[in-house]
Amino acid sequence: MKIKLPGQVSYIIGELEKHGFEAYAVGGCVRDSILGRIPDDWDITTSAKPEQVKEIFQKTIDTGIEHGTVTVMIEREGYEVTTYRIDGEYEDSRHPKEVVFTSNLVEDLKRRDFTINAMAYSDKSGLIDVFDGIGDMNRKMIRCVGRAKERFSEDALRILRAVRFAAQLKFQIDKETKEAIKELAVNLHNISAERIQTELVKLLVSEEPERIREAYELGITKVILPEFDAMMTCTQENIHHMYTVGEHTVQALLHIENDKVLRLAVLLHDVGKPEKKTIDEVGTAHFYGHAKRGAEIAKDILKRLKFDNDTLYKVLKLVELHDNRPSLKKSSIKRLAVKSGTELFPELMKVKRADTLAQSLYMREEKLAYLDKISELYQEIVESEDCIQIKDLKINGKDLIELGVPQGKKIGVILSDIFEMILDEPEKNTKEYLSGYVRGKYLDGM
Ligand code: ATP
Ligand code: MG
Repeated sequence: MKIKLPGQVSYIIGELEKHGFEAYAVGGCVRDSILGRIPDDWDITTSAKPEQVKEIFQKTIDTGIEHGTVTVMIEREGYEVTTYRIDGEYEDSRHPKEVVFTSNLVEDLKRRDFTINAMAYSDKSGLIDVFDGIGDMNRKMIRCVGRAKERFSEDALRILRAVRFAAQLKFQIDKETKEAIKELAVNLHNISAERIQTELVKLLVSEEPERIREAYELGITKVILPEFDAMMTCTQENIHHMYTVGEHTVQALLHIENDKVLRLAVLLHDVGKPEKKTIDEVGTAHFYGHAKRGAEIAKDILKRLKFDNDTLYKVLKLVELHDNRPSLKKSSIKRLAVKSGTELFPELMKVKRADTLAQSLYMREEKLAYLDKISELYQEIVESEDCIQIKDLKINGKDLIELGVPQGKKIGVILSDIFEMILDEPEKNTKEYLSGYVRGKYLDGM
């Protein structure tokens, strides 16, 4: 088997070999190359100790020197070069207590999570595949290196990684590995929010985001996202729906592009439903106020998982507004755009469409036609450059002061008043008209 290594990677491996060490590309980059995917980054594993790596290359950074990792800089690109190591005993399903360097490549491959991630390659030695990673690739299987239970007990994050890789690669999870996941998923409690976030996002933006259902079935979401389990068991006795809230969510994920914010927003759009469910006298389920409550719950979840503020802001807005149904008048659509902000409005429409496509067929065509019409009217609003932000008004705070409005709070109140009027009557957005309006309404007698 031949893999085309990038020039810099060949160079680093070549230099290490020239100095009498072994060196290989390893892990994800080997896996992805064989699968015809473009690797994110190229990791190199070597028999050289960190100090020796640093002596060979001009520019290096001590990235994780205690774990044996040195970043070698070549033409401003960094490549992680890690010394062969054996991870010592693990504490709390989290950190190895110690790492021990070894001169044996196989020992290093043994500590890796899955067979498909435990292959190494160099031009000199070809593919080193001692755990039949190739066989598992052909079988499309995620399988632990060694005993699954032991491997998950050492580091519980691997439990979530199994489903993440399955979703990214469209693979199945091997039986023993699955059994061990079910048994040990609870250990994910010990894993830091940051590490969970990374893997959860990779799962969600993958080719098969619906594999979140498998994470549920295996008992993973129960630990990292119990709110999802509440959705999976919440039925919807309602003509608009044919699935539980959770299954509706999974279906909606299939109808939204693979963008982090959009996938998170769809995942959480109905998270408020289980709490807000009521059944009326004829047995129909209602979920009044679920969008607002959903945004609150989504906030707790995203904060708990340590998401950044920008993601938080966007996802919460989309959750809060996903069920907003403006009338087909430009003024109502503008009011919704004011709430979402112009940047998020098109994203909101995508969420609404995905939501609709995951509902029952009842009124499907009408619902989609309604959404198309909103998008069309919004497009016209954008093209006509109608005012949809206070800063689009043809009059501003400074103008008001020049007209004689005293500086202070009142300026904001007047601008909001004018803004409301202009949403309904865009033709009045001229400086001349608005000056007259302000004089007449606010400066009478001044
Ligand atoms: P990606 O393409 O998403 O980066 P990757 O396989 O490169 O996938 P990384 O998290 O970058 O994943 O890790 C690089 C390699 O390190 C893996 O392929 C695997 O061999 C090993 N590895 C990473 N995390 C673990 C872990 N928690 N337990 C065991 N081995 C791991
Ligand atoms: Mg990687």
